[in-house]
Amino acid sequence: MTASPSPSSPTTETPKADAPKTAPSGRGPVLRLAGVRKSYNVGTSVEVEVLHGIDLTLERGEFVALIGPSGSGKSTLLNIIGLLDRPTAGKLWIEGHETSTLGDADITRLRGHSIGFVFQYHYLISAFTALENVMMPMLADRVFPDDRMRKTAHQLLDQVGLAPWENNLATNMSGGQQQRVAIARSLAMSPALILADEPTGNLDTKSADGVFEMMRKVNRDHGTTFLIVTHNMELARRCDRIVEVVDGKVVG
Ligand code: ADP
Ligand code: MG
Repeated sequence: MTASPSPSSPTTETPKADAPKTAPSGRGPVLRLAGVRKSYNVGTSVEVEVLHGIDLTLERGEFVALIGPSGSGKSTLLNIIGLLDRPTAGKLWIEGHETSTLGDADITRLRGHSIGFVFQYHYLISAFTALENVMMPMLADRVFPDDRMRKTAHQLLDQVGLAPWENNLATNMSGGQQQRVAIARSLAMSPALILADEPTGNLDTKSADGVFEMMRKVNRDHGTTFLIVTHNMELARRCDRIVEVVDGKVVG
């Protein structure tokens, strides 16, 4: 064997002058918020601020609980992180992309490719089968051919233990099963970040535990980052980290 010339290995990393302004996918934090504020207009002229300057960073693969009293701003924060709503002030980076200057088309594209959603109420389409529901995000993106979408949806339902029920209508499934379909659907575009707003809020203890463990498994198997709003402290304690919001601010 001939020795290959050893590459020069500098002890310190010097940033390249031509480094891109936004980090490419796969590097850096999945999410960063700096000084994010949100105000709502109540009535005609009264403006009420509900988020008062949120700083938050989520690294790749983190599994984080978001807790706080009702009305503290958790859903508002999740909607902003999920690019469903815009902050009034402050900045938000998703996979290194700073979002304040992006237009609606770029926002929609970034949301579709980087973020998955699981809500308290699953929002499955009741006239569709489990498989068709999981295909929905891929259909909306219109990137994959039909057979590939079906195969991917089947694999995702298999991962959440529902392959035998894939041709059931969503309405013919238990609450826990429906929420697992919603998790499979959230994974359809292989997002780096999944946002879950009280995903176990409507479920009995056993089903809640199953849904939570399913998300944990996805997190371990795929390195998907999760931010999960929950009132269930027992589940929150099983996360890597707890972020607490009180009166529109992160505390602790
Ligand atoms: P949480 O999810 O923690 O219960 P929310 O984010 O839903 O809290 O709400 C935070 C505050 O913002 C509440 O006082 C709520 O009434 C207010 N709020 C939420 N959405 C709107 C809206 N679209 N217009 C006006 N006020 C809103
Ligand atoms: Mg809420």
